[in-house]
Amino acid sequence: MRTATSALRQARLARPMARRMFSSSPSRLDRYGFIGLGQMGFQMAKNLQSKLTPTDTVRVFDINAAAVQQLKGELASTGAVVESVSTVAEAAKEATVTDFETKDYVVTVLPEPVHVKGVYKEIVAAGLSPATATPSKKPIFVDCSTIDPSTSRTVAATVAEAGGVFVDAPMSGGVVGATAGTLTFMLGCPASAVPAVEPLLMHMGRRVLLCGEQGAGLAAKLANNYLLAINNIGAAEAMNLGVQWGLDPKVLANVINVSTGKCWPSEVNNPVPGVVPTAPANRDYAGGFGIALMKKDLKLAIEAANEAGARLALAESAQNLYETAAQDEACKGRDFSVVYRYLGGKE
Ligand code: NAD
Repeated sequence: MRTATSALRQARLARPMARRMFSSSPSRLDRYGFIGLGQMGFQMAKNLQSKLTPTDTVRVFDINAAAVQQLKGELASTGAVVESVSTVAEAAKEATVTDFETKDYVVTVLPEPVHVKGVYKEIVAAGLSPATATPSKKPIFVDCSTIDPSTSRTVAATVAEAGGVFVDAPMSGGVVGATAGTLTFMLGCPASAVPAVEPLLMHMGRRVLLCGEQGAGLAAKLANNYLLAINNIGAAEAMNLGVQWGLDPKVLANVINVSTGKCWPSEVNNPVPGVVPTAPANRDYAGGFGIALMKKDLKLAIEAANEAGARLALAESAQNLYETAAQDEACKGRDFSVVYRYLGGKE
C-alpha cells in the first residue's frame, strides 16, 4: 500500500521531470498564429515550425504573399502543419478545442508601432471575446517587434479588455540569431504568464530574460539600444581619431579591447575594415544591423525617455548623425558601423 509519505516522496521526485517536460515541449494540439515574415519573422517561423509536432498547427500571415509562399517552400519535412491564411484575423483565430491545457499563441514580428497597432486592432475587431476566452484558456499574444513601451501598453490593455493576454518580447541577436534559433528575448509580462510564454520563445531562441511587467521588455531593449547607438558612434570616432594620429587600427583596437573603452562596437563589430574579420566593415558594411533600424530604435528610445522625463545629453547629436548618415548614398542600407565611413574614416 502506498503511504501518504511515499506518495509525497514520489510526487516530489516526479515534480522536476513534469516541469522539464512542460518547459521543453508545449501541449499537443496547441495552435499558433504567426504574423510578419520579414527578415526576422521568416527565420523565427521556420524554427518554430520545425520544433513543433505534426499535431500542432501554425497559421502564417504576411501582407507580402511572396514571403508566405517562400516559407512554405522551405519548411522542414517534420514539424507542425503550416496553413497560410489571407487575413490577420484568420491567423489569430481562436482555438476550437476545449481542453484547458491547450493554448492559442499568436506571435507578431512587425516593423513599427503603427503596424503593431493596426494588426491588433484587426485581431480585436474580429471578435476576440471574453465570453470564449476563459481564465484557464486565454489566447496569448507575444509581440516580438521593437516598438515603444507606451504603444505596447495601450495594445496590451485593448487585448486584455477583449479577453486575451498580450506580452512584449523584443529580441536581440539579429538575423543571424533568428536563423540559428539563438535569439535572446526580453520579456515583459506578469510572472504567472512565464510558464506559458517561455517554452514558445525557447523554440526560437536560447535565452528568455524576464524584465518585469508588460512593457518592461521593451524598456530594457530600448535602453540597451540607446547605449549601443552611442557606443557605436564613440567607437567610430575613437578609431578614426587614432588612425588620423597615425596608429595602426589593429593596435588601437587591441589596446581599447583590454582597456576601459571596450564595448561591443569596438570588440565585435569594429567599424574599421581589417580589424575584426567577421565584422560587416570587411564586407563593405553589408548585412549586420541596418543603419535605418538603429535610427528607428534610437528615435523610440528618445520618445520613451521624453515621456518618462529622463534627460539624455547625447541623444540629439546621435539622432542627427544617424538621420543624415542613413540618407547618405555611401552609407544607406548598410550596417550601422558605416558611421565610421560617414565620419570620413580611412578604409
Ligand atoms: P522586416 O521589415 O524585414 O519585416 C516585417 C514584416 O512585417 C514584413 O514582411 C512585412 O510585410 C510584414 N508586415 C508589415 N505590416 C504587416 C501587416 N499589417 N500584416 C502582416 N504583415 C505585415 O523587419 P524585421 O527586420 O523582420 O524586423 C521586425 C522587428 O524586429 C522590427 O521591429 C525590428 O526593429 C525588430 N528587430 C530586427 C532585427 C534585425 O536585425 N532585423 C533585430 C532585432 C529586432
